[in-house]
Amino acid sequence: MTQTLDRDAFFIGGTWRAPATAETLQVVSPHTEEVVATVPAGSPADVDAAVAAARQAFDTGPWPRMSPQERIEVVQAFSGLYAARLAEMADLISLEMGSPTSFSNLAQAPAPWMMVEAFLGIAREFPWEETRPGALGADVIVRREPVGVVAAIPPWNVPQFTTMSKVVPALLAGCTVVVKPAPETPLDAYLMAELLAEAGVPDGVVNFVAAGREVGEHLVAHPGVDKVAFTGSTAAGRKIASVCGEQLKRVSLELGGKSAAIVLDDADLGATMEGLKFIGLMNSGQACVAQTRILASRRNYAAVVDALAETVSSMAVGDPMDPATEVGPMVAQRQQERVEKYIALGQEEGARVVVGGNGRPDGLDRGWYVRPTVFADVDNRMRIAREEIFGPVLSVIPFDDVDDAVRIANDSDYGLAGTVWTGDQEAGLDVARRVRAGTYGVNTYTMDFAAPFGGHKASGIGREFGPEGLAHYTELKSIYPTTPGM
Ligand code: NAD
Repeated sequence: MTQTLDRDAFFIGGTWRAPATAETLQVVSPHTEEVVATVPAGSPADVDAAVAAARQAFDTGPWPRMSPQERIEVVQAFSGLYAARLAEMADLISLEMGSPTSFSNLAQAPAPWMMVEAFLGIAREFPWEETRPGALGADVIVRREPVGVVAAIPPWNVPQFTTMSKVVPALLAGCTVVVKPAPETPLDAYLMAELLAEAGVPDGVVNFVAAGREVGEHLVAHPGVDKVAFTGSTAAGRKIASVCGEQLKRVSLELGGKSAAIVLDDADLGATMEGLKFIGLMNSGQACVAQTRILASRRNYAAVVDALAETVSSMAVGDPMDPATEVGPMVAQRQQERVEKYIALGQEEGARVVVGGNGRPDGLDRGWYVRPTVFADVDNRMRIAREEIFGPVLSVIPFDDVDDAVRIANDSDYGLAGTVWTGDQEAGLDVARRVRAGTYGVNTYTMDFAAPFGGHKASGIGREFGPEGLAHYTELKSIYPTTPGM
């Protein structure tokens, strides 16, 4: 890319507006450790301006008063524009956070676009206003109205995926939005803002202010915000939920995970390894749904560990822009250090490194790389089995029988995702029904945007995607039309 990616303004109130302070964010390539762009860092004053614009657009602007069909047409135009820029979007995300281009061209840009298309279909069928027979003999009108001004706070790991899952249902419902992109990944958000403006979203309906945590806290607590939609760490989710609880703000939280993949003895080991490679190490292990606890029966344990060791050791680690790369760098040095600390901790806890371990991958002295690592002899009580590492580290845990496997899978603070690998579809579905997780795959893990996605337990509150994900941006209102004779 020859053209500069630097920016000097925020998208607020439908225009590119100068920042309130001279503070900047530097976007650093995790592969080269070089600054690739400089953008303004949002301050509380910028957030105040963005919330004021969103508030005005909600309270007096056309967007919440348009028909759902009129809003669908604008979002449809956005979808068309977005579809034409997928490769560019994928490249921006690989550049700013190091996602392997193979993953970016699947999940970082095309998947968010597919999500928009799915939400458009859902919005066309959604019961925005229905008349139902009342219990008192007269009909009742039930309306789903926009919840108001939404604060959308995504993380850096899948920035467009987690922004789209909030902005698009919010728009379709008639809400207005302030997006606070993570400081590591502002560049994709700038492109998204341009495309929304080009699609004809009215002024003030969507506003973007990239900033760090403290400014995020200011946005969450802002009295002009009606609902917070957050994706990120469980620690931040707890804080946000407590502020929203105090203020009685609507809140939805998509948080961390420590999901388990259960490998039953009748699983096709080759196909299972292909699956585990993806669901365990996608996005270099920086995925909330990553299934990093691999549960194998004691009888089949050695075979699973050997197959996994062979699979992971053959994965290509390196430059995210190389199409052959399967594992790229960590997003930042602090994330590299965090993963290395967990690898050391696993060894202290008595787990056995069968692949990887600390040290840099061969030939990668620059960039925030770690070695993809597989631990065997892991006990589910160890911290490496309980805490989210958010890097390419898998733990293989033995189980006695299917009941024991389900018990171990459920013995977690989290409950976001999971899979079972088996030759028996019915047995797989039985396990799927018993694991306490918001999403579950049998011999696969593919998110379907028609179905709700979210977590049990410390993995979050609420759901994204599907009609349930759209409903989170609406408030219910019941209208009792005059009953004759009353
Ligand atoms: P993080 O919680 O540190 O930050 C996420 C976002 O929230 C960033 O934009 C950050 O600036 C902001 N933020 C942080 N603290 C805040 C606060 N108190 N108030 C307001 N805003 C705040 O998380 P991260 O390190 O950027 O992302 C990784 C985490 O996200 C992992 O735990 C991962 O599991 C989770 N995640 C979950 C999902 C999901 O759908 N469940 C998807 C992707 C990532």
